Amino acid sequence: MSRSEELFERAKSVLPGGVNSPVRAFRAVGGTPFFVAGAKGARLIDADGKSYLDYVCSWGPLILGHAHPAVLDAIRAAAERGWTYGAPCEAEVELAELVRCRMPAVEMVRFVNSGTEATMAAVRLARAATRRDAVLKFEGCYHGHADSFLVKAGSGVATLGLPDSPGVPAALAGLTVTLPFNDGAAVEALFQRRGDTLAAVIVEPYVGNCGFIAPEPGFHAALRGLCDQHGALLIFDEVMTGFRVAAGGAQERLRVRPDLTTLGKIVGGGMPVGAYGGRADLMRLVAPEGPVYQAGTLAGNPVAMAAGLATLRQTERPGFYETLERRTARLVAGIGDAARRHAVPMTAGHAGSLWGSYFTAGPVRNFAEAKRSDTALFARWHRAALGRGVFLAPSAFEAGFVSSAHTDADIDYTIAQLDAALGEALAD
Ligand SMILES: *Cc1c(COP(=O)(O)O)cnc(C)c1O
Repeated sequence: MSRSEELFERAKSVLPGGVNSPVRAFRAVGGTPFFVAGAKGARLIDADGKSYLDYVCSWGPLILGHAHPAVLDAIRAAAERGWTYGAPCEAEVELAELVRCRMPAVEMVRFVNSGTEATMAAVRLARAATRRDAVLKFEGCYHGHADSFLVKAGSGVATLGLPDSPGVPAALAGLTVTLPFNDGAAVEALFQRRGDTLAAVIVEPYVGNCGFIAPEPGFHAALRGLCDQHGALLIFDEVMTGFRVAAGGAQERLRVRPDLTTLGKIVGGGMPVGAYGGRADLMRLVAPEGPVYQAGTLAGNPVAMAAGLATLRQTERPGFYETLERRTARLVAGIGDAARRHAVPMTAGHAGSLWGSYFTAGPVRNFAEAKRSDTALFARWHRAALGRGVFLAPSAFEAGFVSSAHTDADIDYTIAQLDAALGEALAD
């Protein structure tokens, strides 16, 4: 028995499924998850000493790769000064200013501890501001695990093929309306029918939680127009895309100004941070300035703020996003070539360093089309890739991430390994 297998056996008796987040259990691809002993740059080392090129990057936060020296120094220096105060500190102001500078639509921001908290609070604020209760989300989009969002959700819910979660009161789920992503006509029809009941439209501007799906031209502009026309708020859930698909997130790339933005992942540089922000008139409704309550014992944690600041500052280096995007484009093209060589239908894409591929001829414009992909082939490919030292997200319905620690040589090596792994998967 390997050390990882041993640990997984122990874990299963004390942690549900042996993990603290469902997709980590490898249920969709089979086999035992490896347990991590350490990580540096683009690589993870497991408990048995095997090394992997990591395209999961902690599911998005690690745009600089693991244990980046500048972030490590910042964390160390912050921890030396104490790691939680329960009183404000300068780093919170600095990170808030930096976020506003990168995303001008985020005029004011509140830090929380996770993406889930951010979306939960943003929807509460939208409901309070509009005095309406209904929320529109899109099938396959994941906005964290709060009750309102576990309706046709992506990420682990999609991976495990779960129906909407038990434990969510029907009365609450009934306030969440879902439509297919990229279907502007359906959104327009919904607004015609009940636009005056909708508090907000929440959307992953580029979907990254049921694989990778790009928006069709004009989709978000249409959402913006309908929200304005009917007095609903547009919430961009940029927990994954923020500081990932561009320096200013998807809103910069798509040139759409949301009313509220939710952040997480990169904003904390791998520490537990989330944030929600947007129009100042809306954010001034949040307590203590306004009546909408939301609080956090560890919110604005000085060590977490330091990690976020150090991470974002590194991304300000000239050419940072251009280099990442070029490397990601090369990876995606290489995987596409491999699929063609093996005569396997594939649809692949990326925005910045967020990427994904489906084993289907496509097009993939929404979750229903994503589900047409060959998940059994994906599982075999995943296993073969892992054997060859390449760690892809253990689900056909999760996106991939490239970090600035991934070199051109890493990318070329990865393409060769994934090509060979596809051959193995097909022979399997
Ligand atoms: C990861 C993610 C979340 C949830 O963030 P957590 O920190 O896991 O709670 C919400 N929305 C999107 C788009 C995400 O990718």
